[in-house]
Amino acid sequence: MEESTGRPTKKKVVVVGGGLVGALNACFFAKRGFNVEVFETREDIRQAKVVKGRSINLALSHRGRQALKQVGMEDKIVSQGIPMNSRMIHSPSGKQSAIPYGKKGQFILSVDRANLNKELLTEAETYPNTKLNFDHKLQDWSAETGQMTFARPDGSEKQINADLIVGCDGAFSAIRKQFLRRSRFNYSQTYIPHGYMELTMPPINGEFAMKPNYLHIWPRNTFMMIALPNLDKTFTCTLFMPFDEFEKITTGDEVIDFFQTYFPDAIPLIGVDALKEDYFRLPGQAMVSIKCSPYHIGDKCVIMGDAAHAVVPFYGQGMNAGFEDCIVFGEVLDQLNEDFSAVLPEYSRVRVPDDHAIADLAMYNYIEMRAHVNSKWFIFRKHVDNLLHVLMPKTIIPLYTMVTFTRTRYHEAVDRWHWQEKVINRGLLFSATGAVLGGSYLLIKNPPDISKLIIPAEKMRDRLVVLWTH
Ligand code: FAD
Repeated sequence: MEESTGRPTKKKVVVVGGGLVGALNACFFAKRGFNVEVFETREDIRQAKVVKGRSINLALSHRGRQALKQVGMEDKIVSQGIPMNSRMIHSPSGKQSAIPYGKKGQFILSVDRANLNKELLTEAETYPNTKLNFDHKLQDWSAETGQMTFARPDGSEKQINADLIVGCDGAFSAIRKQFLRRSRFNYSQTYIPHGYMELTMPPINGEFAMKPNYLHIWPRNTFMMIALPNLDKTFTCTLFMPFDEFEKITTGDEVIDFFQTYFPDAIPLIGVDALKEDYFRLPGQAMVSIKCSPYHIGDKCVIMGDAAHAVVPFYGQGMNAGFEDCIVFGEVLDQLNEDFSAVLPEYSRVRVPDDHAIADLAMYNYIEMRAHVNSKWFIFRKHVDNLLHVLMPKTIIPLYTMVTFTRTRYHEAVDRWHWQEKVINRGLLFSATGAVLGGSYLLIKNPPDISKLIIPAEKMRDRLVVLWTH
């Protein structure tokens, strides 16, 4: 447990939602000495037999780790995760090729969502100034008085007051409903046409069925499958595909035919019978992107995590961004002496551009992956970017590296990326002009063997899809 500061502040902070961001936030507020109560609609998942929820595992990267570090939990969570140093690309023929995530020593971690949530709740509970309340569903609240009404499973209601309400109640936030009723609150939500489905790849002879320290990817242009390793030596495979494609497959044999065409190497690893069964266990799940602003109402309420910015999962940043929200709020509390009337607007001012940037980037990735991966110019540009990063590591930094392995503000990463694009494109134009004028003479005199220089388009497209995601 991290020591609480023991400061004399007695302000009461209620965190609504005890998911990943809510549970971590409770630790952040408790550490500062606030009186913290968490209200969560689900039962205590540490006692539950079945934990319902979204993805089974997630990729934890630098921003999320930094937040965990601030509450003394980084080492514990990292020790329970599986490092993924590279993507492993599976071609339709079953050939595998690895593409590192970054420099040596840079990796993302596959962590179990339920376990991470349980660890965070247990950590929050170790602070004497924190109380966790399960089976409490927020029904309504008042932005004027700070009074909240919670519904209990037995039909009763409970009224609670707070100095500060922190809405961490996810993409379909009940807290956010009050924001929607207010003037000058901007809100947009977009469901993408793709859904996702999770399938389990069991261990073979007690060992991982594939190499464990990789995020396995089967990129297939308009759809793809990924697999992340779990501590029990299973892999969780996630198939991302347009809903109408999911719906076209209606029988077990059609599932096998589909996998035979696109993911043949995965069939023996998942198992024919398991595949036929698992595919129909749950329908494809929807993915939504939500952007809004501001993130606060007066000095009473602030929203964080998916409640403020649900993003599509194509950058592996949703939780990481939510965890970083907790760090940023803490930084603003420090700057403004924990004066909520100043802190909340400042938090919105600082954080909205960054969370909007990662929401846009995740959506851009989703579109880019399908639209541009076959463009020759785009493929060529990716090569140039990587080469320049090797030659000038401080000047040209790939966007993925900035987002995943640094705490560069998301919107600054995007600005820098645009600047790099401009500089590189101009450089290429000058080089091309020079090359045409000066080089054509040499080329005519000494023609090279072009076949040795060109990378097959199929191979490049597959590589690009993954360089661009996860
Ligand atoms: P949630 O996890 O949704 O938690 C909200 C909590 O609030 C829940 O416990 C809920 O029960 C509770 N609640 C809801 N309503 C009420 C109410 N009325 N009263 C009280 N409690 C309430 N992110 C990454 O960083 N890396 C990844 O690799 C990654 N992969 C993903 C893959 C998929 C398929 C998906 C869908 C998402 C992925 N994400 C990933 C995103 C990540 O899951 C979310 O960003 C993260 O769960 C957000 O946490 P949260 O606490 O804000 O919201």
